[in-house]
Amino acid sequence: MIVQLALAAALAGSPTTLPREVTIAAVRGEARIPVRTDDAGSPVMPAAPLIAALDGRLRLDGGWAEVVVADQPFRFLVGAPLYLFSSQLLPLAGPASVQGDSLFLPYQFVAEILPYYLAERYRWDPRRARLEELRGRTTTLAGRAASNPARLPSGLRPGHVVTVDPGHGGVDPGNPGVFFPRGTHEKDVTLQIGLLLRDELERRGIAVRMTRTTDTLIALGDRGGYCTEACDLFVSLHVNSLARRRGYTDVRGFETFFLAEARTEDAARVAKMENDAVRFETGPSPADAAGGLDFIVKDLQLNEHLRESARLAELVQRGLDGAHTSENRGVKQAGFMVLTTARRPAVLVEMGYSTNPQDGRLLTTPTSQKALAASIADAVVEYLREYERKTGTAADSGIRR
Ligand SMILES: [Zn+2]
Repeated sequence: MIVQLALAAALAGSPTTLPREVTIAAVRGEARIPVRTDDAGSPVMPAAPLIAALDGRLRLDGGWAEVVVADQPFRFLVGAPLYLFSSQLLPLAGPASVQGDSLFLPYQFVAEILPYYLAERYRWDPRRARLEELRGRTTTLAGRAASNPARLPSGLRPGHVVTVDPGHGGVDPGNPGVFFPRGTHEKDVTLQIGLLLRDELERRGIAVRMTRTTDTLIALGDRGGYCTEACDLFVSLHVNSLARRRGYTDVRGFETFFLAEARTEDAARVAKMENDAVRFETGPSPADAAGGLDFIVKDLQLNEHLRESARLAELVQRGLDGAHTSENRGVKQAGFMVLTTARRPAVLVEMGYSTNPQDGRLLTTPTSQKALAASIADAVVEYLREYERKTGTAADSGIRR
């Protein structure tokens, strides 16, 4: 999960031992702020006294903590090692976090980020663990981030955001998992692999939004809403199954769908099965309100993403082929309600059949779960690289409107 940014690595003077406190030497006075480690061992500092000493402002907004210092907004994604500055989403050694009632910011903010971006205002003395405010001119270097075309180790520019949607959840178990270990349903496997996919994407420098991280039900019509403005693409994870009939346990394999009207009888069956989750929901969903699939499939804004979705599906399917031992069932089109509300390229992956013993084992074995997640993450990176090449300007693609 830790991604070292090239520009951060280039910074001089990171101390090898961690100070117990940091001195903020501002023009109007000095303050000492303690440094501690969070649950994962990353050094953090309490935000409230730190921001007060810097004469800054702090605001919590959804999952983001916005810190304004010298009129420059730094936005930290709470719980994830990422921050947004000057329209770029950049990795951190450790996340901003909430412990008890208090927000904690990464130590890196004081030791590296502020003295880098606000170099004409602050100087960091690593030996004395002291951030010194310089008198005189306070011109900022906000443009520095934009002018620095830093690349992540994955080869991507920073700033991409992907929504991962583990199918089903809560009272909707998905399919019962005939060849899963006792008590394990589709909803459990999609969540396990979804969380692994999140880790793999973050490791590649991509920010991730999850539609769920626990065993809860998110309405189908609401899931796509997680991928609108600040989102590059949407991946929904599922497990296929067949109704009991002669030879049904022989059918196996993985397939990737993008949204369109179903082309084949089997695609229509899979779409119907996944759309059935609606029966667990209470109250109207946006998809219902919009008048059903026919209306949405013809929606122009959606068609814009159709070709992109097809390409993403192709890359995901090809990627899975390298990690999966089962049959490659190919890329398919079908009308999934979960994909209708996403306003970005969107795919739904049926990762295998729980009604087949080999697939059932593969989908519930930790090593192969991780391999599947890594192969999907690699496909996403490949898709985003293609997208960057095509557009030529992807420094802030994750927040394009
Ligand atoms: Zn499903």
